[in-house]
Amino acid sequence: MLSSAAGMTAALALQSPSPGAAAAAVPSVLGPLSPAELGVTLPHEHPAALYDWRRVSYPGPAPDELKEEYRNEQHQSLLAFWDLLGAELKRNGAQSILDARSEHSGRDVPTLQEISRRTGLNILCVTGYYVGSQRPADFVERGVGPARDYMVRELKEGIADAGVRPAAIKIAVGGRAGDKSDDILLAAAGQAQKQAGCAITTHATTPESRRNMLDVLEKNGADLSRVAIGHADSNGTAEEHVELLKRGGYVLYTIWGITNPKLIGTRTPPAPDHSGRLIRSLLDRGLIRNVMFSIDFSIYPHQGGIVLRLYDIPDRTSNYIFTFVMPQLRKLGVSDSEIRQMMVDNPRRHLCGA
Ligand SMILES: [Zn+2]
Repeated sequence: MLSSAAGMTAALALQSPSPGAAAAAVPSVLGPLSPAELGVTLPHEHPAALYDWRRVSYPGPAPDELKEEYRNEQHQSLLAFWDLLGAELKRNGAQSILDARSEHSGRDVPTLQEISRRTGLNILCVTGYYVGSQRPADFVERGVGPARDYMVRELKEGIADAGVRPAAIKIAVGGRAGDKSDDILLAAAGQAQKQAGCAITTHATTPESRRNMLDVLEKNGADLSRVAIGHADSNGTAEEHVELLKRGGYVLYTIWGITNPKLIGTRTPPAPDHSGRLIRSLLDRGLIRNVMFSIDFSIYPHQGGIVLRLYDIPDRTSNYIFTFVMPQLRKLGVSDSEIRQMMVDNPRRHLCGA
């Protein structure tokens, strides 16, 4: 699974046109990167986690009450997995990964640093908050100000202990509009982005939640041209995305190849080429500057071992970008230079602003 010839033949040529000189450096977990260093970027992955985030509502005790030796063993398993996956990603031309995991769903900066050192991949991390069950218990009570200030503090001063600055704000909302906790988060994120001037990356799986997200962010002063609407292919159509993109920003597709609606909460089973066809439609409408994609692969510790979240598809790691997504896009007539724009130029513009 980790050394497929198909993956290698899908590799992208690495020559990158140089970005505009005005673009700012972006922080990675190992220090600042120039925009040109980002290269081929996977903008929504989850390379590590401190605990089994699917079994924990924040705040709560981690369910893995493990002895130190088992904890160490699972950490070593995760690093060994990344030695293989990282080598494969690099062979295929990947250079950077954005870890879209926020603190309260198990962000693990020291492990991200270790993975980055071992693999040579740039890894960028985020501040922000995940869905309601993984926000602090007093999140609603405390309101917009403290959530905003937390994000601004991490963005400007760095993450406590780790001394690393996040590259973006991550926010995740539920499927319905009008949830109080979600709207507090959206207002806080809009205001934080206005102060810090960074990218926002999101999780919004229904048309209703995506529209509401842009409304509340905009009302709170966010720059929508720096917002990536994550999982927009979930319950999404090209017509919906054309409307969203009139307001600026990006759609970011992540449900590649998943056809079981129960695994991703779609209303109907997506076709295997659903996400590819959405891209084809947006390119046909001249919207190539507004499209990004990633796999949303997640790996995390669980009771002494590690879990790879594969959605019933055996090789659906981050490398699925090269073994599935790129061949599918080529079959739909998307050229290598168009793929480069979506994998290099768009993430760079999203993260660096130019
Ligand atoms: Zn995700």
